Amino acid sequence: MAKIPINIKTGNTEQPESQSSIIVGIDLGTTNSLVSIIKDGEAIVLKSSSGHKGLVPSIIHFDDNNTVIVGTQAKGFLDSKPDQTIYSSKRLMGKSYKDLAAKEAVLGYTIIEGQQEDSLVRVKVKDQYFSPIELSSYILSNLKVEAENIIGQTIEKAVITVPAYFNDVQRQATRDAGKLAGLEVLRIVNEPTAASLAYGVGIDQTEEQHIAVYDLGGGTFDISILSLQDGIFEVLSTHGDTFLGGDDIDKAIVNHWNQTLKLPDPSVLRLAAEEAKIALSTQATFSTTYHDLSLKLDVQTFNALIKDIVQKTMTACAQAISDSGIDKEALDKVILVGGSTRIPYIKKAVGDFFQTEVYDKINPDEVVAKGAAIQADILAGNRKDILLLDVTPLSLGIETVGGLMDTIIPRNTKVPHRAGRQYTTSVDGQKHLKVSIFQGERDLIKDNRKLGEFILQNIPPMPAGIPKIDIHFILDTDGILTVKAKELRSNTETQIQVHSQYGISEEEMGKMLVESLSFAKDDMQKRALIEAQTEAKSVILASEKFIAQNKEWLSKEQQSSLINHVQHLEEKVRNGSKDEILNTMDKLNEYSRPLAEIALDKNVSKHLKNQQLD
Ligand code: AMP
Repeated sequence: MAKIPINIKTGNTEQPESQSSIIVGIDLGTTNSLVSIIKDGEAIVLKSSSGHKGLVPSIIHFDDNNTVIVGTQAKGFLDSKPDQTIYSSKRLMGKSYKDLAAKEAVLGYTIIEGQQEDSLVRVKVKDQYFSPIELSSYILSNLKVEAENIIGQTIEKAVITVPAYFNDVQRQATRDAGKLAGLEVLRIVNEPTAASLAYGVGIDQTEEQHIAVYDLGGGTFDISILSLQDGIFEVLSTHGDTFLGGDDIDKAIVNHWNQTLKLPDPSVLRLAAEEAKIALSTQATFSTTYHDLSLKLDVQTFNALIKDIVQKTMTACAQAISDSGIDKEALDKVILVGGSTRIPYIKKAVGDFFQTEVYDKINPDEVVAKGAAIQADILAGNRKDILLLDVTPLSLGIETVGGLMDTIIPRNTKVPHRAGRQYTTSVDGQKHLKVSIFQGERDLIKDNRKLGEFILQNIPPMPAGIPKIDIHFILDTDGILTVKAKELRSNTETQIQVHSQYGISEEEMGKMLVESLSFAKDDMQKRALIEAQTEAKSVILASEKFIAQNKEWLSKEQQSSLINHVQHLEEKVRNGSKDEILNTMDKLNEYSRPLAEIALDKNVSKHLKNQQLD
C-alpha cells in the first residue's frame, strides 16, 4: 500500500520560545477537540484565534496536493469535497469494517475493510488509505501545535479522554494516535470521570459518592453511573446511543418546518434549525427569514418536537441505573456534559428523572477537557489527595487444555491490577508453550474473544508436569494488558502487550455478557466434561508409563487388567458422560493403587540397596 508524504498544514509552525514542558488535558471529541491547562490553580480551556468554541474542530481535509488540513479550515470543505473531508473519525477508532457497515451510509466518505492483520477499518481518500489512528493523530498534532503557539511552551505529555464504553482496543488506538502525534500519553481517562473531576468531585472527600454523568453532544449520547470512594472512581455502568444528539434535534425542527412549509430541499434549513434551537435555550420564541421564507418556532412547539428524543435518553438512564446495582435515591449528583444539555427542557427532564442536584455551572462543552487538565495536574504531582481508578469490563484469561477459558482477571476488577497463576506442561519433553489470551465470560474460549497469543520457547526438556510456568497479567489504568510467561526452573521468559485482532462494539460487549448468563448452565456442564476428559487423559498417560516401567515384575494378569481398565477409560473419554468418565477413572485408580504402592516399595528398597553398595 503506497503511503503519501503527509504535510500537516497548521497556522504557525515556528518553534515556541520556551522549551519547558507541561502536561495538558485533551478532550478528543467526535466533533470538536479541546486542550485545557491549569493556570493559577484553575483549569482553563485554550481558545483558538478564529474564535471557534473548541480549539480545533475534529475534521481533516486532504487537498488535491495531499496536504492535510485540520480544523476550522477543513470544515469549509465538508460540503464542497465530502469524499476528501473526514469528520467523526472518533467513531471509527478500534472498529472493524463489519462493525461500521450499517452506518456507512451516514458517512460522507468511503470506508473499507482493512487488509492488515488487525482487520480494522480504513478510510479511503482518492487512492490513499488511512487508519483511524492516523486520522486522530492529525487532529492531535494540530491541537499540539495550536496549543504550543498559545502558551509559548512545548507540549510533550498529555492526558486524553475517551468515552467510558471504549474497550481496550479503542483505548490503545487513542494512545497510539497520541504517540504518532509526538505526545506521550500519560493516561487515558474516562470522559465522565473527567467531568466529575472538573466539578471537584473526589477532591478532599472520603465518604462514598454516586454520580450520574449525562452527556448529550452533537451526535452521541452517553449516561454513566460512577461511584467514588477514597479517591477511587469506578464506572458502575454506562449506556447510550452513539447516533443520538443535537443533530437529531436539528433534524426534528427541519422536519417540522418542512411539514408546514413544504420545502423543495429541507436540508438547507439545518443551520437555521440549529440557530432556532440555540435561541430557544434563552428565549420563548424564534423567528427569522430564510430565502424569503418566514421561519418561526416557539418553545412549547420545540419541546413537543424533542420529547421523543429526550424520552430515548431517559430510557437509557433507567437502564444505566438498573445495571449499576444502586438505587436512584443513592445518587448524590448528576453532571451535565455536551452542548445539547443547555436546552432547559432537557435540564429539567434530567433533574426530574434523577431527583438530585443537577451540576451545570461549568460550560458543558469544556467540562471534560477541564477534568483532563486536572488529571494531568494530579499526574504532575501537584495534587496528592486523589487517585483515579476504573474497572475492566470483561474478564481476561488464557486458554487451557481442552479449549477451556481460565480467567486470570475477572470482570469488574479495579485497574491497575496484576494477577498470576502457575501452569505446567502436559507432554514429556515439551519445549514450547502457546499462550492464547482471551476476553469474555464464557467457559469455552471458542465463545470468547481472542486478544492475542505468543509462544514461550526453549523450555528445557522435562517430564510433563515438572516445569513451573508462571503466567502474569498486568492490566494498566488504561486497560492495556501485558502478559508475561516465565518458566521458573530455567528462567526462560517471554511477554507481549495485547493488540486485539478485532474491534469490539459496545453492543457486542453487552451481547457477550448477556450470553454468558443465558449459557451459564450449559457452559458449566461442558466445562465439567472437558475437565473430566483432561484429567482422564493424564491418568491414561500415567498408567501407560507405569505399565512400561514395571513390566518385569507385573504379572500377565495384572498387565492385561490394567490395559483393560485403560482401554475402557479411553472409550469413555471419547463417548462417555462426565460421570461415566469419573466412575471409570475411579475404578482404574482403585485397581492400580496397590500396584503403585508395591512399585514405590520396590523403588525405595532399590534405592537403599544402591546406597549400601556405595
Ligand atoms: P458538543 O458535541 O458537546 O460540542 O455539542 C454540540 C451540540 O450542542 C450541537 O448539536 C449544538 O447545536 C448543541 N448546542 C450548543 N449550544 C446549544 C444551546 N444553547 N442550546 C441547544 N443546543 C446547543
